[in-house]
Amino acid sequence: MSKAEQLEQVQQKILTEMVCPLKDAAKNLVFGKGNPDASILFIGEAPGEKEDEQGIPFVGSAGKELDKLLRSIGLTLEDAYIANILKYRPPNNRDPSVEEIYRHTPYLIEQIKIIRPKIICTLGNYSTKFVLASFNIPNMKKIGGISTLHGKVNPIKIDDMEFIVIPLYHPAAMLYNPRLRETLAEDFLKMQDILK
Ligand code: URA
Repeated sequence: MSKAEQLEQVQQKILTEMVCPLKDAAKNLVFGKGNPDASILFIGEAPGEKEDEQGIPFVGSAGKELDKLLRSIGLTLEDAYIANILKYRPPNNRDPSVEEIYRHTPYLIEQIKIIRPKIICTLGNYSTKFVLASFNIPNMKKIGGISTLHGKVNPIKIDDMEFIVIPLYHPAAMLYNPRLRETLAEDFLKMQDILK
């Protein structure tokens, strides 16, 4: 079965089996987009309003910034796959709860195991803590914040999988704090070096 077909099965499982109040309130499942065979996987936090309406991650203002950053290092969606910690939008874009992380991340882990990327770029605090804690949710609180971890290259092994994890500021953060624009651009350039 191709990676795309395997991902389709995970998507169907969420639609048919997953139980979560967010699912009942949302308009659409926001599963993932991009190339299932890509070597880079970006993991964001949760869908926002536009993503919920369209059922596609990163289509709103943060998504436009992410597209620009990808283009700045010569990449497109053909080179990457993009998913989120939460598969359904939390009301008013509030932070994910621990309970929601427990309910949603088994599907994210399945996505990671199917895609088997070389590089995982975590966008913001939640995905950074989840991946650097080796998917162990209680250990997420032991991981530092994005302001100290961004742009650092972390080789990690989880089960039989090896990845390079690069935490990045969430592109939405630079919309609120324009000074982060330069930092994100520099961190993307580091990623370009690793891809060479
Ligand atoms: N922010 C995220 O973390 N994910 C999206 O899909 C959109 C905005």
